[in-house]
Amino acid sequence: MADRVLAVRGPRSLLRQIREAMAGGGPAQARLDMVVRTIAQSMVAEVCSIYLLRASGDMELFATEGLSPDAVHVTRMKSGEGLVSEIVRLGRPLNLTDAPLHPKFSYRPETGEDPFHAFLGVPLLRGGRPIGALVVQNRTARVYGDDEVEDLQTISMVLAEMVASGELVGLTELQDVELAPHRPERLKGQRFAEGLAFGVAVLHEAPAAPEKLLTDDAAAEEIRLQISLEALRRQIDEMLDGHSLVGVPRDVLETYRMFAADRGWNRGLEEAVRSGLTAEAAVERVRSEQRARLSQARDPYIRERLHDLEDLADRLLRVLAGETPGKRILPENAILIARNLGPAELLEYDRTKLRGLLLEEGSQASHASIVARALGIPCVGRLARLRDRISEGDPVIVDGEQAEAFLRPRADMIESFRARADLRAQRYAEFAKLKDTPAITRDGDKIKLLMNAGLAVDLDNLPQTGAEGIGLFRTEFQFMVAEQMPRLSAQTELYAKVLEAADGKSVVFRTLDLGGDKVLPYIQADREDNPALGWRAIRMGLDRPALLRLQLRALIAAAAGRELRVMFPLVATVEEFRRARAFVDDEVAWARRRGRPAPDPLRVGAMIEAPSLIWHLDALLPMTDFVSVGTNDLMQYLFAADRDNPRVSDRYDPLSPPALRALKAIGDACKESGTPVSVCGELAGRPLEAFALIALGFERLSMPPAGIGPVKRMILSTDREAASKGVAGLLKSGGGSVRNEIETLARKLNVAL
Ligand code: PEP
Ligand code: MG
Repeated sequence: MADRVLAVRGPRSLLRQIREAMAGGGPAQARLDMVVRTIAQSMVAEVCSIYLLRASGDMELFATEGLSPDAVHVTRMKSGEGLVSEIVRLGRPLNLTDAPLHPKFSYRPETGEDPFHAFLGVPLLRGGRPIGALVVQNRTARVYGDDEVEDLQTISMVLAEMVASGELVGLTELQDVELAPHRPERLKGQRFAEGLAFGVAVLHEAPAAPEKLLTDDAAAEEIRLQISLEALRRQIDEMLDGHSLVGVPRDVLETYRMFAADRGWNRGLEEAVRSGLTAEAAVERVRSEQRARLSQARDPYIRERLHDLEDLADRLLRVLAGETPGKRILPENAILIARNLGPAELLEYDRTKLRGLLLEEGSQASHASIVARALGIPCVGRLARLRDRISEGDPVIVDGEQAEAFLRPRADMIESFRARADLRAQRYAEFAKLKDTPAITRDGDKIKLLMNAGLAVDLDNLPQTGAEGIGLFRTEFQFMVAEQMPRLSAQTELYAKVLEAADGKSVVFRTLDLGGDKVLPYIQADREDNPALGWRAIRMGLDRPALLRLQLRALIAAAAGRELRVMFPLVATVEEFRRARAFVDDEVAWARRRGRPAPDPLRVGAMIEAPSLIWHLDALLPMTDFVSVGTNDLMQYLFAADRDNPRVSDRYDPLSPPALRALKAIGDACKESGTPVSVCGELAGRPLEAFALIALGFERLSMPPAGIGPVKRMILSTDREAASKGVAGLLKSGGGSVRNEIETLARKLNVAL
């Protein structure tokens, strides 16, 4: 075999010939035959064959130059049989001096392959999934060089993309071949945001389109790749040096840095570009090969590293594209597919077209899930190997009720989905009818139902749900969707708009709660090992008062003499609250001095999210006008379990004695001191959890808009006194979770859950 065929013959001429042969007219089989002939000639191989993987697991010979033509569509290797199956199993090339000596070699007389000893086979990969194998063979026993292996992999990538993107339509034998996952699949995950949606898959990390695979100018493409790699390395160094606030842990960044500097990775990309691929296609090729090789690894450490490599590839693609992925144009009814997503990334997508979200990882309490709930976008997470099982444009159902995803659903599934969506719409119409009904328990206690919000788009939900106000306005969302720091005028404008929309209903503005997983690309901050325990929320506000003051100024201006409720996030000590409150007083005095109206009345409150406060409520409560329990963070800190880490975030149940006792202690202390208290964590929006909360004594619940209807229905059917007695008994339980017991109690009391 001549060395470096792709390089020697002019990098792209072979790839171009293959592409032309594939895309040309005539019967598909003839085109495929032409492709193997062209490859054999170019690579000076006596044999070149293409095998494709049938849905049954068989590898079928689809075209050959050099073996007997009668074997085409006749020779089939069962799964686990023969060298071609071995290539698919391993997901990597097999380079053999003397193929018949390999234990997996399976002799097929109809092929007439007796005289051929040297064997080089590479998998045909699509998104890391093998769809077949490409093989060259020679008579003499020899070893193919690394360059030849490299070339054959590039050829196989181009071939795989073209086969999979429909260039061979008309080939009847193809019907049974899984070029892309095409069977309906049902995946079980976890519910992060409820609701139902049907649409088409949009991959957050999209593969390069087949027409963008080849470059006409490999030298220029290599320079482009080098510049982007350099930019990527700089980005990672900056993150590690702490020049930008990112939500990526240090060890992961270190791994990124290691891979980004890894000669193997870089060389793989360079080689792929030199052989005629675009930089984007090179990234795809290398990623696909890594996926095929590493995804079978049992070792969780290796699988984790594969994720890191994939993230790195995504970052590089983003650098190459010079844009953020969220700025992509979405089709109507888009269902976004991602491994994981930050809240800001989710907010970048066009909300008028985004219908649902499916994640391979993620957690219920993460801010991306909160944003999904706030936007009313159903979201199912923890769907194992989701991205391997789906292609861009596949139809998908997101079932945020049963925590399932249906990929490429059959017609009957779609029909049953539509029936359920109708039912859901009816149920919501029932809730809508309840919107003006006060939430009063059967024994006459009034419960105030408020909604959580954070963006102007949320405001329509206020009249639609009948919420009695906004119990938590997350002001940081405005900062997270902006390209740059919102100015005083932009902040004032948003707050004034919120107050207008509230039309006299109460609104609690929470001051900026940044840090943790809420990151702003335009703010520089030190990197931290434990962001959830780090410099975030009010800690940042107190240390950098300019930002806090600006925000308070905007709030006071927007209130324009009306009522203003301000609340501070993540207060951990009484002193922090005292200092934060002093800023409010200063700003009010500043406004007065300028002859501007002071808010009337002004109410200043604290979020109870740090467990420390539970034992200092006697000191805190007299200083506050109200408090609100942020159960998302309170649970994270109570159980020492990162709300964003899927391995631990759901390990502990808030419906358990320690959590319920902590909540009760807060509720009781507030009652005793006459301090209004609400619960504004996500718990409050789930009927069973809300049932427990009202049983514990809470009378104000603030929740995602979609929770109002179901929670109100629960309240209307609840005898609160009986519920309180039942739940009080369960607080003494010695078990870990009392969820089942609470549910049994609610059912016994005929509560509508
Ligand atoms: C909470 O922690 O419960 C809360 C409401 O705040 P966030 O989810 O924004 O941290
Ligand atoms: Mg919080």
